[in-house]
Amino acid sequence: MSRFFSEKYTRLTPYTPGEQPRDMQYVKLNTNESPFGPSAGVLAAVTEQCGKLQLYSDPESTALRGKLAEVYGVKPEQVIVSNGSDEVLNFAFMAFGDDLAFPDITYGFYPVFAQLNHIPYTEIPLKADFSIDVQDYVGIGKTVVIANPNAPTGLCLPLSSIEAIVKGNPDNVVIIDEAYVDFGGESAVSLVDTYENLLVVQTFSKSRSMAGARLGFAIGNEKLIADLNTIRYSTNPYNVNRMTEFAGVAALEENSYYMENAKTIMENRQWTTEQLEALGFTVLPSKANFVFAKSDRIDGGKLYGELKKRGVLVRHFTKARIAQFSRITIGTKAQMETLVKTITEILEEQQ
Ligand code: PMP
Repeated sequence: MSRFFSEKYTRLTPYTPGEQPRDMQYVKLNTNESPFGPSAGVLAAVTEQCGKLQLYSDPESTALRGKLAEVYGVKPEQVIVSNGSDEVLNFAFMAFGDDLAFPDITYGFYPVFAQLNHIPYTEIPLKADFSIDVQDYVGIGKTVVIANPNAPTGLCLPLSSIEAIVKGNPDNVVIIDEAYVDFGGESAVSLVDTYENLLVVQTFSKSRSMAGARLGFAIGNEKLIADLNTIRYSTNPYNVNRMTEFAGVAALEENSYYMENAKTIMENRQWTTEQLEALGFTVLPSKANFVFAKSDRIDGGKLYGELKKRGVLVRHFTKARIAQFSRITIGTKAQMETLVKTITEILEEQQ
């Protein structure tokens, strides 16, 4: 830290993203990326926009918001787009977060955004089975943030539970982070016309194979979106670059390709869960493009290290309650076969 760093941030612990190693080719199952490449239309759109780089992007992202509105059955005024969903989450914390509540085990960026913006927050313990107790949030009187499906557990609440939380906090915004919803979850977008305090956040990084393009969006009441735009225009009006905007439009035009891929991931998730259970693992029932699994036969940190040595990268968290678990992204069938084979070898060598 330099002696010039503002006192405001000296106690800030930044978010640690998953490793992106360059030393060798890994079977990369650590950052929940899609194993499938972008569709042909996306590549063409990016190439076309590259020829226009001298021009700023559209600060309103009119084409993309129009397309999102069409696909999700809302008005363009109910949509905002962002540089990855992390950005719109940060905007939402800035705009609506006077006092926050989120689970103790959830996406690691939430406490960081809270600290960055000097917002007090309460971490509400998940139940022993890692599920969210809806009653903990009904009437809590704080801005609520829930990832649904949750990360890194993969567990998902039904829409009726989300509605109970939204309904139970009429004077606070409830932010539902649906980064993983396309892998079997139930979206709360259908409720945005009913509840003015609901904000749904999604991303193109997972089901739509665009993690590297950085594109997220939020859908909610027009007034909430207007507030988020006040923050956005006070931060970076050109937050979505032109290649990404039109890549997003093209991806939505080819939505069935991505939803088919999501189906394949769900099948591979089922297969991987069965294989890991056969090896004695406990696997939480996941509705995301990853599974959260642990074994009594090997320590979580050790499994991570042994897999990495053999060229397979998974995500390990050191927080005590989940330190025995590995978060394993679901990739292609071939990648998952390599994972299972490698874990089998590691367990055999241990004996
Ligand atoms: N929410 C959750 C729950 C996530 O796991 C992630 C991925 N790290 C994000 C949001 C952010 O994804 P992105 O910024 O790539 O849209």
